[in-house]
Parts: sequence; structure tokens; C-alpha cells
Amino acid sequence: MTKKDYYEILGVDRNASKAEIKKAYRKLALKYHPDKNPSKEAEEKFKEISEAYAVLSDDEKRRLYDQYGHAGIDQQYSTEDLFRDIDFGDIFRGMGFDFEDIFSHFFGHPFRRRESQRYRGADLRYDLEITLEETYEGIKKEIQIPRTEICDLCNGSGSQPGYEPTRCPVCGGAGEIRQSRRTAFGIFTQVMPCRRCNGKGVIIEHPCKKCGGKGTVVVTRTITVKIPPGVEEGSQLRLHGEGESGPGGNGDLYIVVHIKPHPIFQREGADLYMTKEISFPEAALGGKVDIETISGEKISLKIPEGTQNGDVFKLRRYGMPYLNSSRYGDLFVEVHVKTPRSLSRKARKLLLELQKELNQ
Ligand SMILES: [Zn+2]
Ligand SMILES: [Zn+2]
Repeated sequence: MTKKDYYEILGVDRNASKAEIKKAYRKLALKYHPDKNPSKEAEEKFKEISEAYAVLSDDEKRRLYDQYGHAGIDQQYSTEDLFRDIDFGDIFRGMGFDFEDIFSHFFGHPFRRRESQRYRGADLRYDLEITLEETYEGIKKEIQIPRTEICDLCNGSGSQPGYEPTRCPVCGGAGEIRQSRRTAFGIFTQVMPCRRCNGKGVIIEHPCKKCGGKGTVVVTRTITVKIPPGVEEGSQLRLHGEGESGPGGNGDLYIVVHIKPHPIFQREGADLYMTKEISFPEAALGGKVDIETISGEKISLKIPEGTQNGDVFKLRRYGMPYLNSSRYGDLFVEVHVKTPRSLSRKARKLLLELQKELNQ
């Protein structure tokens, strides 16, 4: 069966505006709405115009249709999907139609089923604090994550094995109560979730011993997290499927990395900064000082003669690793010349002599 052109179905031009399309659909929908016209043909017609409207009222879908015709739409959307995207409330507002019901009229109960079929478990977040040394090396950490899982004893039904949940006697299993009122504008139907079963449609008379009827249990799992060398503060690692479980699959676990402040090194990107105190004679005469780098390696830094307070020396490749790379940043050592706070008699004498010498 070849499908009719959507523009033709609504009786609009190919370059019709959104307002024109909406107007055309509204007019046809009033004619074929199942509340107005209960015949089988009208129902088919209503489906047809609604599908056309769903496509032409949406910029992206209309573009697909204009470019590829029905094939462009059918490959991506089921009729059910298209219907779901229509805001019937917007179309029929104030007209007394039970627009919520249109979908279930054609496709059953969309929203509840959609929820239970598609709902994915929640994503979880874990904040992990590591040291700068661990960031330098990269590290594997074991973490404990409590998460909600579907109860394995009752498979999520909430009923003790051997017993089935029973259909709710109040709502008859629908999970909702509908009340219809006839008004001057038509039949107005109000839908409310059933209180007896909390909208589930079933009642659990023999609750599962493991989960108490909830259908889910909290399980604490140990997960090994591998942190690569060179991660930045606030980096997120996504562990696919390690989040909470739901009927539509597991959520993800996000590990957010925090790096503890280091007593010696400040980090900026892959570079490290530190200060090193040296004595006044060391600064004036030059010499060598020991530096312990982030890798734990001790190196000797040459202080040239006449070094000034605040001079900075660069040690190439003694910084942090770049993420996913064999490159390293640099280590910058800023020199602070120490002034003695108290002096021995001899030191004072020598300094006075030095002062005299320097002032000449
Ligand atoms: Zn259970
Ligand atoms: Zn009920």
C-alpha cells in the first residue's frame, strides 16, 4: 500500500506555514476525532491526519520528509512515536475532548508502559580524592558503591516466588481511575492515578522476603577504578552501566576526581611550581641545592653566582605527565633568599665587615 502525501492529506501547500498546518489539522481533527465520529473509517482517517500533522508541524521531521519522503520518516519513527510527540492538549484545549485518551485509544496506555519499559536506572556520582603523587603515577582504586538493583529473588515483581501480584480490584489493573462528565462542550474525562495500588495496577499480597515488596534492593559493590596519569582536578570518568539498575537498563557511574592540595607543589596544567629557600651566601656565591621532585627522584639544582631573590629556574620534564601522552610538563623553582632572624656574635661581626666592604 502506498502512503499518501502528508501535504495532500492535510490539504495544504508544500510551503504552508506552521499556523496554516495547525489550522488545517485542527479542522480535520474535529471532524474525525473518535469522540465525534466513532466509525472505523473515521478512526483510520484520524490516525492518518495526525501522523501527517506530527511530521509537518515539526521542523526536523518536516525537513526529513521533504528530503527523503516517507522513507525518511519511517526509518526513524514508528507511528506510535509520532503520535507521542503531538501536543494534543495544545490542539484541543478548551474543546472538552479527552485528548490524553487519544493515544491510549489507538495504542494502549502509552505513558505508564513507556515508563516501565524504557526507564533506565539513575546515574550515580562518586567523588574520589587522590594525591598529586597518585595523579603523577596514575592509580587503581577500589571504591564501594551502594546502588539500587532489581531484586534477584522476585525479579522485580515484589511478590514472593510462587505468588503473582494480583490485579487491583479498584482500578481493574489500569492503574488509574477515570471520571467522565458530560458538559455542553462534549465529554470531559478526568484521569487520576489509582490510590489503592499507587498507579501500579497490581497489589502485592505476598511481599518478597528479600525486598519487602519493593522489587528493588540496595547492593554495595566494590569497583576498581583506573585513574590514568595526568588527570585534572574535576575530571569525570564515566563507567558505563555501573549506575543504578532499572527495567530499561543500567545508568552510568561518574567518578569525579579531586586532587588534594600538595604541601610543596602547585600545579598549573602539566607544569609544577615550588619555592626553595637558599641562604644569602648561597645566593651570592652560587652552589648546589637538592630538590625532591614529584616522582620522588632527588636532583641537584645549580644556583649560579649572584642569584637574586625571586629568580626562577626551570627544570625541564620534571612536571606532571600530560594525559594520554608520553610528554611531561616542567618544574619551576622560585628561589627565596633567607634572611637570618637572629645572629650569633660572630655572624654579626662578619656581616658588619661585609657591609663595610660592600659600601666602599
Ligand atoms: Zn524481591
Ligand atoms: Zn488500582
